[in-house]
Amino acid sequence: MKCAIIGAGIGGLTAAIALRQRGIGAKVFEAAPEIKSLGAGIVMATNAMLVFQRLGIAEKIQRAGYLINEAVICDRHWKPIQKMDGDYANKKYGVGSYGFHRADLHKVLLNELPEEAVMLNHRLTSLQQIENKVHLNFGNQSTEEVDLVIGADGIKSIVREVLFGKSSYRYSGQTCWRSIVDMPVTIGLKKSSFELWGSEPGLRFGLVAVGGNRIYFFATQKSSEGGTDKIETLNQDLISRFSQFGNDVVEILKRAGNEKIIRTDIYDLMPVKNWFRDRIALLGDAAHATTPNLGQGGCQAVEDAYVIAKSLAENKNHIDAFRIYQNTRFSKANYVVKTSWQLGQITNTPASLINLRNFALRLTPPSVGKKTMDKLFRLNY
Ligand SMILES: Cc1cc2nc3c(=O)[nH]c(=O)nc-3n(C[C@H](O)[C@H](O)[C@H](O)COP(=O)(O)OP(=O)(O)OC[C@H]3O[C@@H](n4cnc5c(N)ncnc54)[C@H](O)[C@@H]3O)c2cc1C
Repeated sequence: MKCAIIGAGIGGLTAAIALRQRGIGAKVFEAAPEIKSLGAGIVMATNAMLVFQRLGIAEKIQRAGYLINEAVICDRHWKPIQKMDGDYANKKYGVGSYGFHRADLHKVLLNELPEEAVMLNHRLTSLQQIENKVHLNFGNQSTEEVDLVIGADGIKSIVREVLFGKSSYRYSGQTCWRSIVDMPVTIGLKKSSFELWGSEPGLRFGLVAVGGNRIYFFATQKSSEGGTDKIETLNQDLISRFSQFGNDVVEILKRAGNEKIIRTDIYDLMPVKNWFRDRIALLGDAAHATTPNLGQGGCQAVEDAYVIAKSLAENKNHIDAFRIYQNTRFSKANYVVKTSWQLGQITNTPASLINLRNFALRLTPPSVGKKTMDKLFRLNY
């Protein structure tokens, strides 16, 4: 069976690994001419690490990242508001969450695939299903004919658009800046990741160690969509906006070169009802893009990749396989989209209510956090 995967993101590469391990001939077609380190850092939580264990690549992946023992949300004075107890996940599931430079994670995934399994510079421009084949056309004028297609082409998926028409995106009201800086891992980051919530709606600063004396930071602010930065003054602008989080944050921002800071308006996708039609299916952000507040978008893509491969290997009929894949994954992926959206809205609390919000969150018993972790980390397949 010939299966084309569109997109060499975390979801597409993991799907190719999972399918090829099960003897299904999968090839990835990626628009970009090279796999770049777009997006700075990423956390792969316990659920994604459990999938990597099942694929037999967890150890290599762990070596490329940094173990995060706990995730702490603090106010602007670094006083904890809530804690996600990593020891709980470690003990219960046998593996913790890891922070990565995205390039390092991609490298491990790519190394699991033979060179001929990833075709760069292949931007899918159109696809048609004709009888029992799917015809693919690429921007470089090449064509392919395959049995099945998996659209892992991200939130702006062309595969989804061909199947189901234009989608509705939701703007979260927040924009995000992120980068990785080289500096010794101090300020408690050896053990925990931090997200600091500021005194204005949407103002947050996150810090995650990603190994090798590097710190990944993200900074968010309530903002209209489509905003731009003055590249020459970006660094200084961020310092004046985020200096309320103290000297460590200012030091990190000072070290971030203007040109290395990525700005992204935060969207998600209004849930779509179907993730497949006949020989073509969607996974990852193409199917259920989420806001990053739970740090789960990539993890969900990894889960999809494993389940779609398992289902295709275990079912002769591709429609049965895609249906089982969707039924297995639908409710958890949509739970993530919904919960992450709600969390984002909590961070948008008006300034006058922020102290009250933080007070209420501090009263939340640890059992609530554990319940959320179980919902996110448990694999139902
Ligand atoms: C600020 C921020 C922080 C985040 N942090 C985390 C985190 O800590 N943990 C986590 O799990 N998730 C996180 N996410 C979410 C995560 O980045 C995504 O959910 C994840 O990258 C989705 O993977 P994917 O493979 O589905 O799609 P993508 O990573 O979007 O990959 C899609 C690929 O398809 C290619 N492509 C697109 N169109 C075409 C085409 N026509 N033809 C061929 N190729 C094409 C693209 O070039 C790209 O390589 C974060 C997101 C943001 C915005």
